[in-house]
Amino acid sequence: MANPANVPFLDLISPHKELREEMLAVVNKALDTAGFIGGPMVEEFEREFAAFCHAKYCVGVNSGTDALRFTFLAAGIGDGDLVVTVPHTFIATTEAISQAGAGIAFVDIDERTFTMDPIKLREYLEKACDFDSSTGRLVERKSGKRVAAIVPVHLYGQTADMDPILELAEKFNLIVVEDACQAHGAEYYSEKDKTWKRAGSMGLAAAFSFYPGKNLGACGEGGAITTSDAALAQRLKMIRDHGQIKKYYHELEGYNGRLDSIQAGWLRAKLHHLDKWNESRRLLARRYHQLLEKAKDSVNLPVESPWTKGVFHLYVVRVRERETFLAFLGESGIGTGIHYPIPLHQQKAYEHLGYEAGSFPVTERIAQEIVSLPMYPQLTEAQQSFVVDKIVEFSHANVAAAR
Ligand SMILES: *Cc1c(COP(=O)(O)O)cnc(C)c1O
Repeated sequence: MANPANVPFLDLISPHKELREEMLAVVNKALDTAGFIGGPMVEEFEREFAAFCHAKYCVGVNSGTDALRFTFLAAGIGDGDLVVTVPHTFIATTEAISQAGAGIAFVDIDERTFTMDPIKLREYLEKACDFDSSTGRLVERKSGKRVAAIVPVHLYGQTADMDPILELAEKFNLIVVEDACQAHGAEYYSEKDKTWKRAGSMGLAAAFSFYPGKNLGACGEGGAITTSDAALAQRLKMIRDHGQIKKYYHELEGYNGRLDSIQAGWLRAKLHHLDKWNESRRLLARRYHQLLEKAKDSVNLPVESPWTKGVFHLYVVRVRERETFLAFLGESGIGTGIHYPIPLHQQKAYEHLGYEAGSFPVTERIAQEIVSLPMYPQLTEAQQSFVVDKIVEFSHANVAAAR
């Protein structure tokens, strides 16, 4: 196999070469109409993205972090409330919880799927909390705070196991907000409803990020909330725009958190390619899976559960000798990433939460071993084969050394 010289972890140049004309047309339209904030470009994108996610409404905002934060605020979550999520996610998930004024509670992930473990969630809700039948609210014993919401994170492009999570939410009167920032177009087979559902259509609301490296990425910052709740969508539209119902009529204090029109126009152009791009990612994932079989002595491959159709935002393997593995790939000109090296409960920022080492053993174990390989629709077969050859070479050397 020819050496493609180097294989970057991410390629954000090729897709924009392919779409150059469409993207310049969006800029020209914005310049010709001075439509920079709001207006038809934002509304058209919102309509199409809601449809793409099988939700009724979409509210464009300026980041995935604000999509989460505004959703908590719009749902009335704040001081005295607790929101349950996983420690194996990007910090934006928990920043949004704290910045809405609520407390953070963690439950561990499932070792096979890297997403929220519904059994651990049940244990937490049933054993660490009490149901107050006079208020109909669940209260965490340790803090005395009301548990208000669950945030499953559809990590790496694979949905969390939503049926049991939604069932627990219903039982305990909690809302569910999907963190779908890595899962544009991912699907989940609901055994309960006997149908496939899209990320963004399962909880009360879902947050998406359009950070440039995401499956649907802006050329700058962007995010959105999808929901089928009309009143929530209306509140979100006020919150992103200084609490206005119309210009200078402020129903509440909001934020400057809108999605730019040019970004919306670009996102709409890219949305028309997203199914095709996600399909390329799936094909690449299948190919990694087949070819890396030869390296299975050293490299553990990701598991796609039968109830999910992932969109492979990332292709994440586990390697026990991670340091040497990363150094070897680096010397071969192959870019890699670690998502994420330090679990949130062990970050300095969250020392005050008081979690000890060993609190979430699955998250802590995998954080030592995970490696994200190059994965993007424009990754060529030659590039992928080169990555695979190098990994197989590493594995054979590793096995020989161990003998
Ligand atoms: C990217 C990401 C976010 C935050 O999105 P931004 O647009 O960068 O604010 C939140 N959660 C997860 C899981 C993400 O990957």
